[in-house]
Amino acid sequence: MLGRSISRHCPRCGSKRIFANWAALKEFCPTCGFKFEREPGYWVGALIINMAVALFVFLVTLVGGIALKWPDPPWNVLSAVTIGVMLVVPIVFYPWSKGIWMAIELSYHKLEEKEQFEASLRAADGAPTAEG
Ligand SMILES: [Zn+2]
Repeated sequence: MLGRSISRHCPRCGSKRIFANWAALKEFCPTCGFKFEREPGYWVGALIINMAVALFVFLVTLVGGIALKWPDPPWNVLSAVTIGVMLVVPIVFYPWSKGIWMAIELSYHKLEEKEQFEASLRAADGAPTAEG
């Protein structure tokens, strides 16, 4: 599921067409009918993943920059680069944060019977899909 999500596919069925554009996830998977936002507040997990990745890249950039230029790090350049990192990384990583969150959440919170039934009604072929 994580591999599917990293490649921007549906974590449930692997469908490639789950984004309406680069950043905007569709409401449902067009193939298996999986409703991506499973409950109110669902995307808080994606937000946490996105901020964790941004913080990690920030720390690697800051510590790496200091280590490379020690003992006289260019503080102004490091400030500008790390501010840029904190502005760009959360935007660029946004779609992947949602996909990774869906895979993680789906791995421990399986679809309930009601969700499976509703998804099967929305599925492209109208037939119930195998749970996975
Ligand atoms: Zn799907």
